[in-house]
Amino acid sequence: MSASLVRVRFAPSPTGYLHVGGARTALFNWLIARRTPGGKLVLRIEDTDRRRHVEDSLPKILSDLRWLGLAWDEGPEAGGDCGPYYQSRRLEIYQRYVKQLLEDGKAYYALETPEELAAMRAAAPKGSFQYRRPSPRPTIEQGEAARKQGRPVVVRFLMSEEDVAIRDEILGPVVLSGAELEDFVIQKSDGWPTYHLACVVDDELMGITHVLRGQEHLINSPKHVSLQQALGFRTPAYAHLPIIFNMNGSKMSKRDKEKALARGETPPEIDVHDFRVAGYLPEALLNFISLLGWSTGDDTEQMSLEEAVGRFEIGAINKSNAKFDRDKLLAFNTDWAQRVSPARLLEAFKDFLAVNDSPMRSQDDDTLAYVLRICAGFRSFRDVEAKAAILFAPDETVEYSPKALKKVLRKKEGQGFAMLEDVLPRLEALAEWTTETLEQCIADSCEQQDRKLGEVAQPIRVAVTGTTISPPIYDTLVLLGKPGTLNRVRSALALKEQE
Ligand code: GLU
Repeated sequence: MSASLVRVRFAPSPTGYLHVGGARTALFNWLIARRTPGGKLVLRIEDTDRRRHVEDSLPKILSDLRWLGLAWDEGPEAGGDCGPYYQSRRLEIYQRYVKQLLEDGKAYYALETPEELAAMRAAAPKGSFQYRRPSPRPTIEQGEAARKQGRPVVVRFLMSEEDVAIRDEILGPVVLSGAELEDFVIQKSDGWPTYHLACVVDDELMGITHVLRGQEHLINSPKHVSLQQALGFRTPAYAHLPIIFNMNGSKMSKRDKEKALARGETPPEIDVHDFRVAGYLPEALLNFISLLGWSTGDDTEQMSLEEAVGRFEIGAINKSNAKFDRDKLLAFNTDWAQRVSPARLLEAFKDFLAVNDSPMRSQDDDTLAYVLRICAGFRSFRDVEAKAAILFAPDETVEYSPKALKKVLRKKEGQGFAMLEDVLPRLEALAEWTTETLEQCIADSCEQQDRKLGEVAQPIRVAVTGTTISPPIYDTLVLLGKPGTLNRVRSALALKEQE
């Protein structure tokens, strides 16, 4: 690999949020670019398929990449973190190459209407339809005349019948028989190029040296290599990344979300944005996805991006499928939350609160940092929010869980209520409201009633949150403040007479 020449690309189609598999492709390309001095990552938006275009997906993909911290190097305005390239703005370039292929006799106009093609497909045994090259093929003049008459004319590439061999950096030599490939469309009837043509032209013009993409594109590579040969282009090195599977062996796909919803289950996180909303740190997600098909060769798993840059090798990417182990990801997240600096953790937490439009987002930095400290050891920001949000909500929104009422306040003939009755005047009498004074106050109540700490702390927890889960009790009360605590304890006591 010539160090200074490495140029890779990430080429998403704007069809929705960035899928975690797409993020892995982006990351591996980014790692290669960073690994080699002078290496460059080009971001190319493949937006020529107008039918599949999903409104708004482009800003979403860009914001997902930025959230992950994967910056691209180059765009039309060369230099720095600029770009990306948009294929939809390069129509004339593609048309020039289609014209060249037509004139060289390496492509031809095809005049079948979509209805005629559908009829041919229907007549062929299921799944076996292959476009049959017409004989003789329409001439350029006939094609242009038909187009002028308003007929839906496409341009097809004259596929060679010889075998096409590609050397894949991961899979080794792959040979595909050209005879099994039909003369595929390179320009649609609306004049727009297909993915194959635009991709091949851009890989050449953008000087791409290595194409790393998902294995689902392996089937496209013989077409691309044939097109490169016909156009006199170089063939980049190819590396097709292993497919990502769920732990149950099914392929991880966007449809998993719909399937879960149909079963009445919580949809799994699939897109990068899902993980952001669910409260993962980008550091943890990136670290985790870097291992989807790659390993360092020793036992090192948790590493920063810089460490991954230092260790990444295309040759070390696995051939076999990768498994998406969500428990492992959660464990990574738990560790990363303790590994990053408090300032970084706070920044990431604020981003989480913002994307979720959480009521907690209006809290000041000191308060949020305090919440993070007392919840240390958490698995995700969502868990932190689930525990802490009620402390910042209006007192009247506390909902008492029937189970907590029964198990903590009402049990043993209302022992929990009795505890609250004892502790309330003590809390009312506190002049200073700190973890230390609260600790003393509750200890006094325990001693007075000859109870263990949990027997007093748990009723208080239920009284102020409505549930049995909260951050440590003294911190919880400090965050709530004296008026809030007293208010909520009184509201809980008011439930004593209700059955
Ligand atoms: N636009 C294609 C995709 O999103 C990229 C294919 C490629 O990398 O060549 O799957």
